Amino acid sequence: MTQPTTSIQKIGVLTSGGDSPGMNSAIRAVVRACAYYNIKCVGIRQGYEGLIHNQMSELGARSVKHIINKGGTFLQTARSEEFRTPEGRQKAFDHFKKNELDALIVIGGDGSFTGANVFHKEFNVPFIGIPGTIDNDIFGTDFTIGYDTALNTCIEAIDKIRDSATSHNRVFFVEVMGRDAGFIALSSGIASGATNILIPEEKDSLEELFESLQKSEQAGKNSSIIVVAEGEELGNVYDLAKATEKRFPEYDVRVTVLGHIQRGGNPTCMDRVLASRLGVAAVEGLLENKTNVMAGSRANKIVYTPIEEAIKKHNEIDKELIKVAKILAI
Ligand code: ATP
Repeated sequence: MTQPTTSIQKIGVLTSGGDSPGMNSAIRAVVRACAYYNIKCVGIRQGYEGLIHNQMSELGARSVKHIINKGGTFLQTARSEEFRTPEGRQKAFDHFKKNELDALIVIGGDGSFTGANVFHKEFNVPFIGIPGTIDNDIFGTDFTIGYDTALNTCIEAIDKIRDSATSHNRVFFVEVMGRDAGFIALSSGIASGATNILIPEEKDSLEELFESLQKSEQAGKNSSIIVVAEGEELGNVYDLAKATEKRFPEYDVRVTVLGHIQRGGNPTCMDRVLASRLGVAAVEGLLENKTNVMAGSRANKIVYTPIEEAIKKHNEIDKELIKVAKILAI
């Protein structure tokens, strides 16, 4: 890309909402792309809290060395209640002006994009979003930053659980994250060879679950792993385990909630590359005077999706993956 004519000379970057592995790689990409295009970059600490309380400092290309491989976000992230108020956003805008910022890059989930959109409508602040969440639930990108790392963490943990399950003939209910989406459960369930995968996008019933456990037993399986999305509507892992114990008192039923380990760890190669591409795309997008869009990757190509679409629409769960999971659980 040749340097376009733009009024943007200084970009602020922040991470907001829940953290996800690869956010550091994305910040690094934003900072270095700014340096490459000779514009200034300012790191804002703790999401919108840093704008409200004026916690920000200029970042040069060398200031983001040795972070591409680190989980979490060195700028830190926050859920800012104050930014939800007009007074909070006014303070944020005052500091935006005081620091002579021209635009924002917001790395986070749909809540963070909603906040940026409100801020834009009130103060005409240009911004581009980068999808950083392990849940993979954001429209406009095939994958969100952190999803692949979370999946790999899940399968590493479930592989270990399998060792215990097979040694003791146990039925394990394993809860994975994803909020109200089943992407993590479906992919990690397939990759770890789960006998059942329960996700909110599918109507599940206890009877079906019990039938499939019985079938598994009849088919010669002496242990089962059931991966359950945290948003599963049939019940949480503890309820499901209790109901299964009641129905099959002879089963040795156990529960594991993977919890926050899914948000940590060094980002995978896929997440680092995605974060690097989206960081560069966000800076280039702003320099091309794009605003109120999210930079994403679809069919391995960079695309910019209007932020309102990214917030309102949802990625559909892949029916083919559901079919594959069912076929392979035979
Ligand atoms: P994750 O998917 O990991 O939860 P998220 O970006 O969706 O990430 P949220 O907590 O929903 O996380 O949103 C992050 C922050 O964005 C909020 O704490 C708040 O500061 C801001 N925000 C969200 N919605 C609004 C809104 N309607 N108006 C103003 N600010 C908002």
